[in-house]
Formats: sequence, structure tokens, C-alpha cells
Amino acid sequence: MTIQTATLGYPRIGKNREVKKALEAFWSSKFDAAALLRTVQEVELASWKTQLEAGIDRIGIGDTTLYDHVLDWSIWLGIIPERFQSLTGFERYFAMARGKDGIPALEMTKWFDTNYHYLVPEITQPLQPANFGDFLETVHRAQTVLGERAVPIVLGPLTLLRLSQLELNLEQTVSYLLDRYLVLLKELKTLGVVEVQIHEPALVLGDADKFEELYQSTYHSFSQVSLPIHLVTYFDDLGTAYPWVMELPVAGISLDFTRGRNLELLRQHGFPSDKQLGVGIIDARNIWKIRPESVLSTLETIQSVTSNIRLHPSSSLQFVPYDATRETKLPEPLRNVLSFAEQKLDEVLILTQTLAGGDPSEKLAVVQSQWKAFEQFSPVNPAVQERLRNLTVNDLERALPYEQRKALQPTLPTFPTTTIGSFPQTSEVRQLRVKLKRGEITQAEYEAAIDAEIAKCIQIQEDAGLDVLVHGEFERTDMVEFFGQQLSGFAFTEQGWVQSYGSRCVRPPIIYGDVARTQPMTIREFKVAQSLTNKIVKGMLTGPVTMINWSFTRTDIPRSEQAMQVALALRDEVADLEAAGAKMIQIDEPALREGLPLKPERWNEYLSWAVDAFRLAAGVAKPETQIHTHMCYSEFGDIIEHIERLDADVLSIENSRSNNETLFEITDAGYKHQVGNGVYDVHSPAIPSTEQMVQQLKTGIANLPVEQIWVNPDCGLKTRRWEEVIPSLKNMVEAARILREEVNATQE
Ligand code: GLN
Ligand code: ZN
Repeated sequence: MTIQTATLGYPRIGKNREVKKALEAFWSSKFDAAALLRTVQEVELASWKTQLEAGIDRIGIGDTTLYDHVLDWSIWLGIIPERFQSLTGFERYFAMARGKDGIPALEMTKWFDTNYHYLVPEITQPLQPANFGDFLETVHRAQTVLGERAVPIVLGPLTLLRLSQLELNLEQTVSYLLDRYLVLLKELKTLGVVEVQIHEPALVLGDADKFEELYQSTYHSFSQVSLPIHLVTYFDDLGTAYPWVMELPVAGISLDFTRGRNLELLRQHGFPSDKQLGVGIIDARNIWKIRPESVLSTLETIQSVTSNIRLHPSSSLQFVPYDATRETKLPEPLRNVLSFAEQKLDEVLILTQTLAGGDPSEKLAVVQSQWKAFEQFSPVNPAVQERLRNLTVNDLERALPYEQRKALQPTLPTFPTTTIGSFPQTSEVRQLRVKLKRGEITQAEYEAAIDAEIAKCIQIQEDAGLDVLVHGEFERTDMVEFFGQQLSGFAFTEQGWVQSYGSRCVRPPIIYGDVARTQPMTIREFKVAQSLTNKIVKGMLTGPVTMINWSFTRTDIPRSEQAMQVALALRDEVADLEAAGAKMIQIDEPALREGLPLKPERWNEYLSWAVDAFRLAAGVAKPETQIHTHMCYSEFGDIIEHIERLDADVLSIENSRSNNETLFEITDAGYKHQVGNGVYDVHSPAIPSTEQMVQQLKTGIANLPVEQIWVNPDCGLKTRRWEEVIPSLKNMVEAARILREEVNATQE
């Protein structure tokens, strides 16, 4: 039996971020709509050709987007909230994505456990008419290039619903949507596509069993169209849903064999002989080449269960960059074991040829020797390993419990005011780094310019009347990159961009060996800032879990161990900050919550090491030193005991967009430590009024003892402008002052 190859989606920002640039040009009116569309279609065409030339049989198409593919499906299906209904075309599209003239955008949130963000469909009233014209046009275009290989990717109805804000009755909405999907499937059939991929990653979420009947009825009606459906799942295993998913009336089912226990489930329950198994064997979420031995042994197991298989990456390749061979500045032994999208296509082919009894064994042997060379090269740090082996529970423990520490820590006025760390990164500041890199300024000149920014920032905070100051983070491009660049074991790409959302791209660092601190990382800037003021300056660090979650990690040792290595480096930094006079140190963990595994039964395992890593970094601090942490977009209700176990003295949270829900979760649980309840939304250019913030704080006071309350913005101010930040902070300090007086008056 010949083994087919397939893809489930491809990077879409362009090898040189053409789509990002075109979008920004369009938004600033330098590009018209036609030029934008042309760019997007050129990028799309290039990706089709790459996949065609690689020899992929079933190329997933239709996932290219102007901003977000989930938004595209909302619009095609007619899921358009009332506030956008008077708009049309691009204007409506980008209003839904980014807001317009006071009309708020759709909410944005993380796509499963990836770092990609999608726009949440809002299903709140009868739907608008569906219109699949653009999608069908793309399919038609793809067919002219790819012929039968073009396989439309359709976002599954039940995944779409599962990820929506649904204010209508579920069954009713399914029936509305179903008709639309049926129309679409019929149109696709008329176009002559040989099959369609329907992506239902919601099947791995662990609550899929609740929707079993809906899946059955939905896929039963889809089967009436008699267009072969390949049902695609990824990001985890099917869990208890496995047996009934196998019975759905579809032609094929794809499973992710790079995460979760699908292999075990397959062995245990078998695979239906009337279906084709899509084997997601190449990890589409990490950047390493395959390890031939282990992949071949997995495939052997799979083939002992069913021989009707196709091979493909585990999910869309949108989570990895385009081409590792362009990273010419990386050391060769590292570059040789990297696999970005293009290399992953080759890997699919090599494996398929191997299974077909061909002789690409030569190619596999090359990969094997590349891994050998890499093992010689990758930094092994016996001292770090030794330190980790010798850790005891005491190392994770502050010297005294919170109540006793609190008495020793700095005394501040009621409602102490502070910020989350960063201040506006103007283009002049970013320009400094470009000049330094190009050799146009010396290191000393660069530092002097940064110090001038710090001085200005300290002065502004003094003028605003803040109680606890920060240095402003001007020397940091990015909170992970800045630390990674000073740690051994981290590598940085030049072209390794992946889409975070819309036009926003990130270049995650690669952890490729043992991590160790090579030098103090933040002490110089801290000292400069502290020398300029009598107020307390908080030291600012990025926590170990965030460092790990926002990087591509190694696959040879567990993530927990990598987090602990980073934590050790940060632990030394905490000690150095203290020695340099820091009385407060903030260890940011914005990514702690988002790293939660998709299946709740695995949460404890993750949280246990994640919290330990934080504690290892912070545990070295003297009782007198106040440890802060900061988290964004967090829902804590279900993990509050782990938040408590962090044992941070002060926790600042995003709150202003969550209607105090996060605060209530914390107060309901009887959280005893101090809380900085974000009083203004840093994601909006609006300047919050004193009155607004007084109101916000009053909610805090009604729910938490006054001694527990801090006053701060939601998050860092990096993306804001000084003109917004200065008045906002003044209003915030004024709000704290008003409440301070009110509280004092009632106490007298
Ligand atoms: N200290 C960081 C800042 O202010 C925190 C950023 C974040 O939470 N993502 O920018
Ligand atoms: Zn934040």
C-alpha cells in the first residue's frame, strides 16, 4: 500500500514577513487593499509551490489569512456581532480584529496551549448570511496550481463553537451552523476537491465526551454530502473520546503522535479498518529534526495496528519559522539539527520513503550523524547539573513565613503605588540598539544613552509621586530575549519569526544546552536607577516558567529540568540584586497560566514543577526583601492554591479588562498576601480618570483588607506613549491619595 503525505497548514506571514509589512503599510494608508491582497496571495502561492515541490500529496490550503483564520471563519459563517454590522469589507474585517472608533474589537485569546492568539467568535444573536465566496475562490486558485493535491482546511463547527462566546442555545446554534457547513461542503464537492480536512482540535480538550452526540449528528449529516472528510485533531490525545471518535462516519482521522498518549490509545483500542489514519509524527510545534530511531519505532508500532496511513506534521506548521538553512549565523552543529517548516516537509517525505521500503536510509544516517555532532557541541554544564542534583526542599523555601517577613519588609503608605516595570520604548530607544549592532555607537555610548532614559524615567516617576519606582527596562527588546542573550544554552535566530497574532510576530529563542548565567544581567541598570532616588527601586526579572514557555525547548531533558536550570541562574541574579541594595525584586511570570496542559488531569504535574521553579528563583531572597510577581490575563479560580504556593509577597494582576473577576477569585479563596489589582488598561491609549480608578480601587477595598492592596497599572507600559503614561500615572497616584485620606478619616 502506498503511503500518502499531507500537510495541515503552513506559515503564512511570508519568509520575509511580507504579510506583516503589507498589513502595516495598509493600516498607515501606504498600501491600498489591492496591494495588500496581492501580497497575501503571493505569500500563499509561494507556500503552495514549496509544498508541491517537496512532493506532498495532500496539501492543506485555505488557512492563509489577513489577520486570523478563526476570524475568517466567523465572517464566512456570518458570525458578525451587531456592533460591526453597519461596516463592510476590509473596514469591517479590521474593526473586528482591532476595533475602530470606539467599537471594541473581538476578544483575543490563546489558541489552545500555543503562543498564537485568535479572535474569539461572538455568537450573540441570529447569524448574518454566510458567504464562502473568498474561501471558494482560494480553493479554486489552489486547484489551478496544485490540482487534486489541494485539500481545503475547514475549521470544524464544534471546535468553533467550543472556542466561541456563545450566548445562544448550543443545540440551536449547531443547527444554524450546520446548514451553512453543508452548503459549503456541497460547493467544495462541486469544485471537484478530492477530500476536505475538517479540523476539530477541541476533541483533545478532555470535555469532548460531553459533546459526543453533537459530533455524531454533525458528522452524520456531513457524510450525506459524500465528499471524503478527513477529521483532524492535534495538540494532545483523544483521551476517553478515542473509542467514539473512531466510529464517526469519516474517511480518515488524524492523530497527534508527538504529544499525549495517542500511541497507547491506538494500541489499546485499535483503528477502524474502513478509515485512513493520519499520523502526525513530525512535531509541528518545535524546531528540532526528528530522532530517526524513536520516530521509526513509533511508526512501526502504528503500522502493526493499521497499514492504511498517511504521514504529516502534527498540526499546522504555522508555529515554526520557514527555513532553518537561512540561519547562517548559528553554529553549524546546531543549525544542522534544526527543522523549520521546509525541513519538516522533507522529513515527511524521508519517512514515507523509508516506510515504502525505498532507500532514503542514507538521509536518515545523515540526520543521525548530525545529532551525534550536535551532542558533542551542545553545552553541557556539570556544575549546573550538580547544583540541581543537590537541591533540597529548603532551597525552595523563603527563610521565614510570610507574616514574619512582612514585619521586616519596607513600610509604605496605605495603597502603595507602583508600575509593572517597562516604560515607553520609543523608536529612539530601539534605534540605539540598531546603532550599537551596526557599530555606529560604542557600548559606552549605548549605556550612557540608556542611563539618560533611566534618569528621565526616575524623574517622571518622582514627579508623579509613585511610591515604588522601576528603572523602565529600556535596555530590553523583549523580556525573554534580554535574559536569554545573557545565559549560556540559549540561541537566537535571525529569521525565525512566527506569528503571534495579526501582524505581530515573535522570534522565540532556542534552548539547546544546559542553561547557566555567565554574568550579572540586570545589576548595572538597577544601580543606576537606585542611585538617582531615595525611593525604593524594584529589581525586575523574567521568571523561569515564562522563559521556558516562550522559548523552543530541548527535547532530550524534561521542561521541568530546563525551568530549574533557568531558575538557578535567576536565583543568583536575585542574590546579586540584593547585594546591590534591592529591597524589592519582581519576578514576572505572565506565561505561567497559559502553560497549563490542555487536559486538567495534567495540571498538577505542570504546576508542581512550575511553582517549584519560581520558588527556587525567589527562595534565596532574605526575609527583608519583598518579592513581587506579575501575571497577565490570568484566571486563578482553579489554580489558586498553586498561586499561594508561589509565596510571593506581592502579586500584581491584570484586572481592568476582566471586570474584577480575577480579583474576586483571589479574594474568594482568602488569599493572604498583598495584591496589586491592575487599575488601568495599558492596552488602550485612553487616559483613565482619577474617578474611574477610585471606583476600581473601591471594589478592591470592599473585598480585601486595606493592608493587602497595591495600586498599579495592568501590565508594562512599553507599548504606550509618554503623553499617555504621564497623565495616567498622575491620575493613578491621585486616586490612591484620595482613598488613603478616606480610609484614614474613617479610622480616626
Ligand atoms: N515587567 C514586564 C513589563 O513591564 C512585564 C511584562 C508582562 O507582563 N508581559 O513590561
Ligand atoms: Zn503583564
